[in-house]
Amino acid sequence: MRKTYKYRIYANREVLGKAGRWLLLCRRLYNVALEQRITIYRQDKSTISCYSQINQLPDLKAGFPEYREVGSQVLQGVIERLDRAYKAFFRRVRNGDGKVGFPRFKGRDRYDSFTLKQAGWRLDSKYLSIRNIGRFKLKLSRQIAGDIKTVTIRREATGKWYVCFSCDNVPARVLEKSNSSIGIDVGIKSFLVDSVGNKVDNPAYFRQSEKLLRRRQRRLCRRVKGSNGRRQARVLVAKAHEKVKNQRNDFLHKVANQYIAQYGVIFIEDLNINGMVRNHHLSKSIADSSWGKFFELLSYKAEEAGRVVTRIPRFEPSSKTCSDCGAVNKDLTLNDRQWVCQACGVLHDRDYNAAKNILQVGQTCQEVTYENAQSVS
Ligand SMILES: [Zn+2]
Repeated sequence: MRKTYKYRIYANREVLGKAGRWLLLCRRLYNVALEQRITIYRQDKSTISCYSQINQLPDLKAGFPEYREVGSQVLQGVIERLDRAYKAFFRRVRNGDGKVGFPRFKGRDRYDSFTLKQAGWRLDSKYLSIRNIGRFKLKLSRQIAGDIKTVTIRREATGKWYVCFSCDNVPARVLEKSNSSIGIDVGIKSFLVDSVGNKVDNPAYFRQSEKLLRRRQRRLCRRVKGSNGRRQARVLVAKAHEKVKNQRNDFLHKVANQYIAQYGVIFIEDLNINGMVRNHHLSKSIADSSWGKFFELLSYKAEEAGRVVTRIPRFEPSSKTCSDCGAVNKDLTLNDRQWVCQACGVLHDRDYNAAKNILQVGQTCQEVTYENAQSVS
């Protein structure tokens, strides 16, 4: 399996200055290559391929000697990135995805990373050296496994630098087999409720960090464009964003790890965007990104551990169906946190009941699949 490892990196002013210069050169190349594509299209309605743009890189180096110091693979990576932006654009146009933005020229703060492949870098236990840039210090808090395919150096809006190692052939760490399964309902009030009855709430510190973020965003809006104060305010906003993101990720990792450690099969209802909008306890942005990220983490950790995560297609009455007798209680509204089944009289907690339904539907689907497989063979 593939896996990406991310670490913070540190270096002296000179090294960071050079890395910043590579970012600048890469950004210029990106913009020039984009301009070339646009010009060629305007002139004779034809296109230039990624391949032929890459073939022009030696000419670029001849004409602009400052590009000689930048690794060839790094420059190729810039052209490939533009090509991906183009392909994504045309794919969205073909699919008719609403408003589709044409690939844009990158402004000063809009180009924040470059990528090396096999050559031009070396990693030992404490240092990452990049040819023609210098040495970065890093702490390998998690050991890297598998084969490193790409090395991406990134400067975030906070001014901090990071490296991402993207690895192939990372061995799975299979956990001891577990036959137990569980259903998870992404809650309206809580972060989630499972079919055993556990509730996981959003940590209170989410809201505090969010308040901080909003305060700083308001301050940024008040600052005059182009001023020094605005620049500082922007860094503070970026730092608050980073804090929110880190807290959120820590929380999500912890929750996902608990479920992966305990259960062999996990059923979740497919993402319910409307349900997330109803979550008044968090801003929409945090709630949305949390869900997406949680599903992503859970699936990826499951793959790594030899577990199964199955998404249950959204079934409308999940929260209105009695998990005891199966009767659908149509008159329920979103405000009914607890309700009594009209058919059998059992008292239900809304989310807990939904989680039990998800587990039941999941297990039924699995049996059907199993039977189909049997009848085929
Ligand atoms: Zn009932």
